[in-house]
Amino acid sequence: MQVPAYVEYERATSVEHAIALLTRFGPEARILAGGHSLIPMMKLRLAQPETLIDINGLSELCHLQVTDGELRIGALTRHAQLLDAAAAGEHFAILHDAERVIADPIVRNWGTVGGSLCQADPSEDLSAAFAALKATMVIRGPGGSRTVSAREFHTGPYETVVAPDELLTEIKITIRPGGGSAYEKVGRRVGDWPVGAAGAAIWLAGDTIAEAGIGLTAVGAPHFAAAEAEDFLNGAPATEASFAQAGQIAAERCQPSSDQRGPADYKRHLARELTYRALRKALRRARGQAEGERTEAGQSAPEASR
Ligand SMILES: Cc1cc2nc3c(=O)[nH]c(=O)nc-3n(C[C@H](O)[C@H](O)[C@H](O)COP(=O)(O)OP(=O)(O)OC[C@H]3O[C@@H](n4cnc5c(N)ncnc54)[C@H](O)[C@@H]3O)c2cc1C
Repeated sequence: MQVPAYVEYERATSVEHAIALLTRFGPEARILAGGHSLIPMMKLRLAQPETLIDINGLSELCHLQVTDGELRIGALTRHAQLLDAAAAGEHFAILHDAERVIADPIVRNWGTVGGSLCQADPSEDLSAAFAALKATMVIRGPGGSRTVSAREFHTGPYETVVAPDELLTEIKITIRPGGGSAYEKVGRRVGDWPVGAAGAAIWLAGDTIAEAGIGLTAVGAPHFAAAEAEDFLNGAPATEASFAQAGQIAAERCQPSSDQRGPADYKRHLARELTYRALRKALRRARGQAEGERTEAGQSAPEASR
């Protein structure tokens, strides 16, 4: 039987109280959100915090609303709440695409958006989705709040910019006209972590891509993003050829490793193909076309150029 080491337990009654507890107990204290990542790690003794600071009572971190042109998601929002939120799906379909394929209903009912991002697992789906959307993370500590971009948030596998006395409180995404987004994932079986996955967000100006965001996970992409592929797309025509080339660039610039989920060359193939597919679907959505309806860029890319 796997049993965690002895640990102290504190229940925070407000965000300020959680920060005061983090300050009091120091770097060996850890926030407990849904516990779906932290508790298994403690059972395996991969994590041995001295104190758990439970934030599950903090309703102030559970909001999900559109305010002042932004979608604002509290860090304690459960995966299932994000999946159920019409406002999230309406403005950023990528979030519903991703949530539908994260784990299983049990994990989604209690696991949180903030916990997923702070866990910083290199295969986390939401990290790629928020990278594609160029979201802003709000972090609060003893000195007040600060914001960082999704691209700055993750500093490496299982590492973020959140300091030991800080917590992630909110994720914000600006709502802009002409946008569409999508997420494509390949896993070994239903509810499993991705072998590879790609998220895409595009904002159109007529038939031109005004701005693109591409997030990748499980394929060794720096900061869960495909920055060079985005640069290629910015200002490019919204065509099948542009998307195929962006997929090619994304695949060339990521650094997948071979592991139990698959060989590196297969993951690189997924980075290319899933980027292409996500961009195609994002375009359909940006143009307000029904799911499955085909556009010029909705045709299959020529195999050679994918
Ligand atoms: C069986 C299973 C299958 C899964 N499949 C997938 C999958 O397919 N795709 C996927 O992306 N994920 C998957 N997951 C991971 C799941 O999404 C995460 O375990 C979970 O959502 C993490 O959130 P949590 O609230 O449980 O975090 P916790 O386990 O409570 O915390 C994780 C880490 O984040 C820290 N933390 C939490 N909240 C905050 C905060 N607000 N501020 C600062 N630090 C914080 C904690 O201290 C801890 O270090 C799976 C998990 C399980 C158990």
